[in-house]
Amino acid sequence: MNIILLGPPGAGKGTQAKFLEDRFDIVQLSTGDMLRAAVASGSALGQKAKEIMNAGRLVPDELVIRMISDRIDRPDCKNGFILDGFPRTVPQAEALDGMLAEKGLKLDHVIEMTVEDDALVERITGRYSCAKCGVGYHDLFQLPKVAGVCDNCGGAAFKRRADDNVETVETRLTQYHAQTAPILPYYRSKGVLKAVDGMAAIEDVTRQIEAVLAG
Ligand code: AMP
Repeated sequence: MNIILLGPPGAGKGTQAKFLEDRFDIVQLSTGDMLRAAVASGSALGQKAKEIMNAGRLVPDELVIRMISDRIDRPDCKNGFILDGFPRTVPQAEALDGMLAEKGLKLDHVIEMTVEDDALVERITGRYSCAKCGVGYHDLFQLPKVAGVCDNCGGAAFKRRADDNVETVETRLTQYHAQTAPILPYYRSKGVLKAVDGMAAIEDVTRQIEAVLAG
C-alpha cells in the first residue's frame, strides 16, 4: 500500500506515519528527515539544503525528486510506503506520478490532514524529541512521564529542530499555502484525495485515517 500524507508543517504527518508503519508494515519516507540526515552528514546535498531549510524555504524540486526516487527503489519499500513531506509542489506531484508509473507502482491513498494555522505555530514551536530514540514530545501537550527522561528508552538528552522557531514557522506556513496547497486540487481532480480533521486528538486522527484506508 502506497500512501501520501499531506498537510501543513505540524499537522501530525510524522506521528501518524509512525502509526501506519507499525500497523501495515510499510515504511515512512520523510523527505525532511532525509534532508536533515544529509545536513548532519555534511554531504554535498546536505550543504546545499542547510541554509534553505534553516530559512524555512523549499529545497529545489530536482534534488528531492531524485532523493525520493532512489529511496523508493530500496528493498524495504517492497510492501509499500507513506510519503511524509513529499510531494510539496505541483512539479513534485507530477514527477511522482511519472516515477511511480516507471517503477510499475501506484498510489492507493492521498490523505490531507487539516489544521488551523494558529494551532500549528503552537504545535511546532513546542515540539522536541529524544536525541537517542527520536520519540516526540511537546512542552504543553506531551511531556515525558518523568521530567527529563524519555518514556520510551530512558534517554536523558532531547533535541529541537533548527527550523522549529517562530520566525521560520511563519515562512514555512507561507510556503505551504503558496506552493504545497495547490497540490490538493491536483489530487482532488484525480478522485484520490480524502481529508481528516487534524485538529482532533492523536488517537482520533488515527481512527479517521484507518476509516479512510478501510473505505
Ligand atoms: P519537514 O521535516 O517535512 O517539515 O521538512 C523540513 C524542511 O525540509 C522544509 O522546510 C524544507 O526546507 C525541506 N523539505 C522537506 N521536504 C521537502 C520537499 N518535498 N521539497 C522541498 N523541500 C523539502
